[in-house]
Formats: sequence, structure tokens, C-alpha cells
Amino acid sequence: MICSQSLAFAYAGGARLTFADVNLPQGGVLWLAGPSGSGKSTWLALAAGLLNPCAGRLDVAGRQLAGVSGPKPQAKAADLDRWRASAIGFLPQRLHLSPSLSVRHNLAMAQWAAGQPENPALARTVLARLGVDTLLDRMPSALSGGQAQRVALARALLLKPKVILADEPTASLDDANAEAAGRLLVDSARQACATLVVASHDARLAHLLAHVTPGFQTLRLVP
Ligand code: ADP
Ligand code: MG
Repeated sequence: MICSQSLAFAYAGGARLTFADVNLPQGGVLWLAGPSGSGKSTWLALAAGLLNPCAGRLDVAGRQLAGVSGPKPQAKAADLDRWRASAIGFLPQRLHLSPSLSVRHNLAMAQWAAGQPENPALARTVLARLGVDTLLDRMPSALSGGQAQRVALARALLLKPKVILADEPTASLDDANAEAAGRLLVDSARQACATLVVASHDARLAHLLAHVTPGFQTLRLVP
């Protein structure tokens, strides 16, 4: 579930970004559209509690990140970090797999961040669902682009997050891989009953969403 009202954010010394309201039920799919620089990545960072809005209301996965009278007083950082680690599956544009850690330890990091012990069986199950469980002991540098993306998706899905945020998941993929990545994202979210937000200016992805999840919402950002 994601609800926002009159949400705004300003980078220090930058322009104020304002966002149209969102009312996305649990399990809903939102396409965050708009050209480069329109604020898609900023919106995702707000929804993940990584940035603090300067105005507006924002509720994500049952947590009030900003309230009626503007931003909430900064919650304890450790508490917010733990919430994010368990409630949000983030698939950043640059995948941010730690290069010095194996696939297995990249996934373990997600569990540690949420205050949970490493659970190799769970990691293997989620990787297997994405067809990459044979790669547990590989280093990220030994993965193909598509494999790295599946591993990053597995890491995002590992703790059954209520909300999945994906930033330009099909950028730099050819048509076949873009379609596979889009389907994987939608299917994975559906299986987990997770709310899915996909930020993208890739028309191929909009096409796919219309096809596989006809009820999806669109938030179109303008620079
Ligand atoms: P998009 O993801 O749609 O390309 P962004 O959210 O990255 O857009 O950026 C929205 C606007 O905020 C742009 O004008 C961008 O230049 C500006 N911006 C993004 N990050 C920063 C930052 N760290 N400091 C200042 N301005 C930023
Ligand atoms: Mg962006």
C-alpha cells in the first residue's frame, strides 16, 4: 500500500519537485513515467524513506513517512533502516551488488540489514525461483548482465517485502531481455502479493504492463 498527498521534495539549492497524489492498494502496480530528470528516482527514494519530503503526506507499507503537518520528526535512523530492509525490496538502477562479496553473501547482507540471521536455504529457494541458484558462490564480476539483474531481484525479494521499487529495470536491455525482466518483476510481485512501483521511461515496459497487468496505475512526472 502506498498513499501520498501533496508530496514535495527540494534538493539543497535545487528546484522544488512536486508530485501528484498516489493511492495504490496492496498488490497494486504503479508505473512511474516521465523523461530523464522528472523526479522518478527521487520519488522512489522518498517511498523508501531514504529522503525526507519537505511537504505532504506519505504512507508506505503501513508506515507514516510524512504526516499531516509536513515531514515527521526524523525517526531513529536505525529503526528506519530496519523497516526499509524488511518492508521494501529496492531494485536500484545500478544494481549495487557488493563486488567483493559472493552472490550468497550479497543476499546474506539483506538479511543482516533487517536484523535477521543468514538463511542460506531461503536464499537458495528465491534464487532457484529466478533460475540462478547455481550461482550462489559466484562473485558479481563473474555474472552476465541478465544474471546480475536476477540476483539483484532475488536480493530485493528475499525478505518478502510488501513493496517493491524498481528503478529503470529495463534500461540498456535488448527487447527480449527487457520483456523477460519486466515479466519477472510483475510475476514475482504478484506471487508475493507485493505492491510494485516501476520507474521507467521505456515505452516497451508500459506496453508490457498494459498486457500483463491491465489494472496498473500511471503517475506521469513532468520535469
Ligand atoms: P529521474 O529519475 O526522473 O531522471 P531524478 O529524480 O534523478 O529524475 O532527478 C530529478 C531532478 O532532481 C533533476 O532535475 C535532477 O537534476 C535533480 N537531482 C537529482 N539528484 C540530485 C541531487 N543529489 N542534488 C541536486 N539535485 C538533484
Ligand atoms: Mg532516475
